[in-house]
Amino acid sequence: MAVKSGSTRPGILPPSRRMSDAVRDALRRPLASLRLSVTDRCNLRCRYCMPEDEYVWLPRTSILTFEEIARLTSVFTGLGVQKVRLTGGEPLLRHDLPTLVAKIARNPRVNDLAMTTNGLLLGKQAAALRAAGLQRVTVSLDTLRPERMLAFAKSARHADVLEGIAAAQRAGFDRLKLNAVVIRGFNDDELADLIEFARAHAAEVRFIEYMDVGGATRWSRDQVVSQREMLEVLARRYGAIEPVHATGDDDRAPAERFRLADGTTFGIIASVTAPFCRTCDRSRITADGTWFLCLYARAGIDLREPLRHGVSDDELASLIRETWQGRTDRGAEERLGIADRGALYRIDSLRADPHREMHTRGG
Ligand code: SF4
Repeated sequence: MAVKSGSTRPGILPPSRRMSDAVRDALRRPLASLRLSVTDRCNLRCRYCMPEDEYVWLPRTSILTFEEIARLTSVFTGLGVQKVRLTGGEPLLRHDLPTLVAKIARNPRVNDLAMTTNGLLLGKQAAALRAAGLQRVTVSLDTLRPERMLAFAKSARHADVLEGIAAAQRAGFDRLKLNAVVIRGFNDDELADLIEFARAHAAEVRFIEYMDVGGATRWSRDQVVSQREMLEVLARRYGAIEPVHATGDDDRAPAERFRLADGTTFGIIASVTAPFCRTCDRSRITADGTWFLCLYARAGIDLREPLRHGVSDDELASLIRETWQGRTDRGAEERLGIADRGALYRIDSLRADPHREMHTRGG
């Protein structure tokens, strides 16, 4: 059955009760949002994520099955998680993804089921994903110029991304978000164009500061276009820009939202210059079942081994609860204090442990 965006599904639990019940970390942040990477593979080679020619992939036998992912999700939602986002790599490279979506959508504690995709394969799959119960889609769209995508992501398939966006809208994904990583000298002259494109497609664009995460081996501070700079550029074009004050669930969302005089809204994720670790309620599970409490965490917790060696759901829940209660991660805020900040990892270090890659952790 198709689910309307923003609708409440039968059997869903009241949000207020679940939030107050959520397990909290050492800084009182709830375990509320889970990003599930379903594959570490990607069909683009974006410079801010996968700029190299060769990668070390997770062994196929280590990749969690749909049943294992659904079971883990169920344990997490029993501890307070309400929001689930499917990521990759590129999640649509995982065969038969609508079947996984349907399994997760049946969980009554999940009140927000979303996916982030590069859009290349969305044209063919949007309707099936919607019918399976996916509620929201975010499409990465860093540039409106095909020749820039070719240079920057090594792909000539810009038209497929646009078709993916159109297909998502035809399928009824009416709160579509478009993510653009802004990099000086690459696409920082397209801010207004992207706002106009989003407006014309009833979508909302979110500009993301270029982050020094694992995989961004060519990162340097001077390529980061700060939130302040983006707002200055846009104010010169559009006039006064107002902040949109967050309410409810939005107050833990990573994007700060803004409104132009004509009512058009957009977001900025200022992970580099104004990190939001103090409200961070999200964690990530890789396709092989490694749980990361922070995008910058050096190591993760292996949930696959216990899952495959007969532990009960209660035992898994205890492991997850105790681990989250000890969480003190504030990766981006700690990076802020580093004077000579450069790329987080060199390529040899990433090859030694692919779990350090952002495309493995799910961004
Ligand atoms: S750096 Fe870590 S703690 Fe901070 S917002 Fe990102 S994932 Fe959360």
